[in-house]
Formats: sequence, C-alpha cells, structure tokens
Amino acid sequence: MDHFLYKNGVLHAEDVPVADIAAAVGTPFYVYSTATLLRHFRLFDEALDGMDHLVCYAMKAASNQAILKTLGDAGAGMDVVSGGEYRRARAAGIPGDRIVFSGVGKTADEIRTALAGGIRQFNVESEPEMEVLSAVALSMGKVAPITIRVNPDVDAKTHAKIATGKSENKFGIPIARARAVYAHAASLAGLEVIGIDVHIGSQLTDLAPFEAAYQKVADLTEQLRADGHNIRRLDLGGGLGIPYERTNAAPPLPTDYGAMVKRTLGHLNCEIEIEPGRLIAGNAGLMVSKVIYVKSGEGRDFLILDGAMNDLIRPAMYDAYHDIIPVIEPAPGTEQQPYDIVGPVCESGDTFAKQRMMPPLAADDLVAFRSAGAYGAVMSSEYNSRPLIPEVLVKGDQFAVIRRRPSYEEMINRDTIPEWV
Ligand SMILES: *Cc1c(COP(=O)(O)O)cnc(C)c1O
Repeated sequence: MDHFLYKNGVLHAEDVPVADIAAAVGTPFYVYSTATLLRHFRLFDEALDGMDHLVCYAMKAASNQAILKTLGDAGAGMDVVSGGEYRRARAAGIPGDRIVFSGVGKTADEIRTALAGGIRQFNVESEPEMEVLSAVALSMGKVAPITIRVNPDVDAKTHAKIATGKSENKFGIPIARARAVYAHAASLAGLEVIGIDVHIGSQLTDLAPFEAAYQKVADLTEQLRADGHNIRRLDLGGGLGIPYERTNAAPPLPTDYGAMVKRTLGHLNCEIEIEPGRLIAGNAGLMVSKVIYVKSGEGRDFLILDGAMNDLIRPAMYDAYHDIIPVIEPAPGTEQQPYDIVGPVCESGDTFAKQRMMPPLAADDLVAFRSAGAYGAVMSSEYNSRPLIPEVLVKGDQFAVIRRRPSYEEMINRDTIPEWV
C-alpha cells in the first residue's frame, strides 16, 4: 500500500497534487511519501515483535538524508555498504551503534572511519578482510564486533544481477567453510565474534529461499556455539520483493516473513537484525516525467519523455517493469492504446516499456513511474550530460526539495582542462 492516489482527478503524493510539485520544481523529478516510508518500516518492526530486533534500512536503496532521518527518528538502524554511506548516515543523525557495515570490499580507510565514528558491527565477507579489520582495530586500541557473512548456496530465484546467495556469487564465505573461518576470526585479537550474517539477494517473491537459508543459519548457530563461539546476533539481510506489476500475485508480506523468522530462528534466543531496502523505499517513491513528443513510427507510437535511463536505470539494467500512469486521471471508459515509452538518451536501451497500454497522451502531459523509490535516484547518472534530477519529500500537505537539480554550470564546471591540453 502507498500514499499515491488520484484525488479530484489528479494524482496526489499524500495531500499534495503531483502537478503542483512539477510546476514548482520542473520535470523530471523523484517524489517520496513520508507516510509510506514509515508504514513499511513499521510493518517490519511489528512483524518481529516479541523478538529482540533491529530493522536496519539498507540505505543503498534510497539514501537521501531526509529519508534516513525520517526512518532513523522512527527507530531504524542503517545497513551501509561504503564509507560514503557511513558518513551520510551519521550526517543524517543516525548513531553509530545503529549502523551495520556490509560489503565485500571495505578498505582500511573505510574501516577506520567507522571504528572512529562508532559502529554496531561489521558484516565481514572474507578472511583477508578479517585480517585487515583486526589490524586496524588493534592500531586504534579497539576491538571490532563482527558477524561473518555466510553464503548458504541457495537459489534466490531472482534476477541474476541481484542474486547473491549462490556459491558462484562473490558474497560471503561458503557455509561449508564457516567453522574454520570462525576459528580463524576467534584467533584475531582485534575482533569480537558476535554473530552470523546472511543476505541471499533482492526482489525475492517467495519465502522458500529465505527459509532454506535461515534453516542453514540455525544449524550453523548450534554448531558454532558447540565450538565455543558466543553467537548472539543473527543478521538476516534484506531482499523481500515488492509488487511492481499490479496484476501479478503479490509477494509475501512482512508479517509472513516475520512469522517465518520466528519459526526457523526463534528458539535460538538471538537478537535479530534485518536489512530491508527495496520494501521500505520502493513503493514510497515515484519518478515524474513529462511527454516531450508523441512520435508515430512504423506501426507503433512512441511517447518520448524528458526522463531517461540515466534517471531511472532499472528497466535497462534489470529488465524491470514499472507501472506508468498519467498524472491527470483518465475519464472513466477512456480507450487505451499501445505506446513504446522511451527517453531521449541515444541508446535503444533507453526504453522504459514496449507496447504499453495507456490512455491517449499528448506533449506536455505528465506521467508517473510507480515503485521508483528504491534503486532509482541512487543509481542515476549524468549520462548524456543530463543534470541529476531533483528529489522531493512529501509529508501530509507539505513538500520540500531534498536534493536540488544542479545547474548546467555546476555540472559542466566539475571538469578541469589541464593547461597542457
Ligand atoms: C542490497 C542489500 C540489502 C537490501 O536488499 P533489498 O532487496 O533492497 O531489501 C540488504 N543487505 C545487503 C547486504 C545488501 O547488499
């Protein structure tokens, strides 16, 4: 459920007409709903009721500080995957003891930054990383709390680019080697082993792969405890999918997920962490764009928008589907027609949808891409020298620009031409 509905014939973000935002900030832009963000966070938080837990929002999904502060004020922790994300989370006021640091390639500098600023735990992904982390911690007179990310070798049955839990993926250590790696970790003076981490992929639409992975984590917890490790925290990753296509069967709800977590892991009395990104931010954001031209081609009509693949790369990168709806509600009974919906970038990959049924549209009409809140703005670029598009946050009847559109000069002046050119 989200808070983007037609009221009086105009699409609203909560109580704000989307057309008003377009008039104020220009198109294209991203707009997020505070109520939707909070609703999704609370669904997870409540799903784990009765277990000691922390929901750590995977901020790579949408990392604007206004979003981080909104969720942080509601009690969320953060899952960060770079030194930049760590700094951004701290800048948004998230305390270090609510930040977990994931990722396969943490540098010594990034580790030092997090240890100096405060960190809940590092989710370690390899033995070389363990060695560096221990050495850096000792050099600072600290001990780093860690979990080790295990790769359970389960098929998440999702898009290949976002599957992470098979043995051929670069993530984590093979679960079969876990006992040896935990023994190694326990021998390093700069580390304190506190738990196990697992994250098998993104946009999962079935609980079965999660359950298979968590069952392996439960077995491993008992083994590691028998080996003498004090396993007391389980980080279960993120990955629960969202309904991009309204006509498809809806993925499981956070409540179903929470019940499964309790069933498979509840008896272990561990503190539970989860790292949802997409499910919190995905349906909390739209990308709004304007029709530049309607072009009639050979047997097909193209809607050429002012938004492009550099603004929203998911269709080009993951073959992703997004609902695209007109901002002005079509009159009941309006006949639909097929369009190829494209951006202005000079690549055929800059195609959002082919032969999509839409009400008739004309130049200057506004359309909204639904479910664009996660992996949208954060993956945007300035390809084709198109300035990054702004982000707007709505709360009730208020809205504010939370990242402004840079001017052409700002974008161009980042280049320097050496005098010897
Ligand atoms: C990307 C990622 C997540 C979030 O995945 P979603 O599908 O957005 O929920 C969580 N944990 C880790 C380690 C990740 O890399």
